[in-house]
Amino acid sequence: MVDNKIQEVADLLSKSKYAVTFTGAGISVESGIPPFRGEDGIYNKYDPAALDIDYFYSNTAKSWAVIKEIFYDIFEKKLPNSGHHTLAKWESEGLIKALITQNIDNLHQEAGSSNIFEFHGNSGRFVCLKCNSTFETKNIKMTTEPPKCSKCGGLLKPDFIFFGEGIPHEAYNKSIQAAQNCDLMFIIGSSGEVSPANSLPIIAKDHGAKIIEINKEKSLYTDKISDIVILGKAGEILPKIDALLK
Ligand code: NAD
Repeated sequence: MVDNKIQEVADLLSKSKYAVTFTGAGISVESGIPPFRGEDGIYNKYDPAALDIDYFYSNTAKSWAVIKEIFYDIFEKKLPNSGHHTLAKWESEGLIKALITQNIDNLHQEAGSSNIFEFHGNSGRFVCLKCNSTFETKNIKMTTEPPKCSKCGGLLKPDFIFFGEGIPHEAYNKSIQAAQNCDLMFIIGSSGEVSPANSLPIIAKDHGAKIIEINKEKSLYTDKISDIVILGKAGEILPKIDALLK
């Protein structure tokens, strides 16, 4: 049954003209990065208030301590898994035209994908809240104090969006366009609970795309818009699809 679905997905991908992927926290779970929600989720251990933009401004030191631990002490040491690598391979073969990700862990980039729309930004950069300069994380000295801009002394903030911030304009516009233009969209490792990102697969469906969902558990999309649902681990399923491509 699952094998039939995997073959069907491989055939659809081979025949597609403009396939796009939409990924969420689930694709990075096999790299050792926990999702926000669920039993082992980040929210069960850390107070999500640390990721609220107003809290970051008013309680910077407290907020920074949590951000550093989650996104720099934990994320930094993780490597892309076979799910990320398969998507990068498909892009290099021209099978996938664009990758929209909600993830901020930089693992798609490390795996070699390049046409990536970072819907929620990226922890691999910092932005100065005073002069707007950006810096690569690897050039920032991580201490217990929130980092400061080497040009103007302003406070640096990780360049991913906090609760209360808007979606980056360019990533937003390109993602909407990709959703409107694709004929096939993969939803991989996303529960569909985070707005407005969760509307992208719905836009794709409304514009006639076939929706393939690969999630460990059923999501908000499963019974509503997904044409083919494969429940399981992305790092196992994506290479199986790859092996059946013509
Ligand atoms: P989510 O946490 O709401 O849902 C995760 C989904 O992944 C679930 O549907 C689950 O069934 C599925 N899943 C778990 N393990 C999987 C696996 N091995 N293979 C395939 N699917 C698997 O994720 P979301 O929809 O992306 O929303 C969470 C938000 O949190 C996003 O905005 C994202 O930016 C952010 N976030 C990012 C990271 C990251 O960058 N790695 C980590 C945590 C949270």
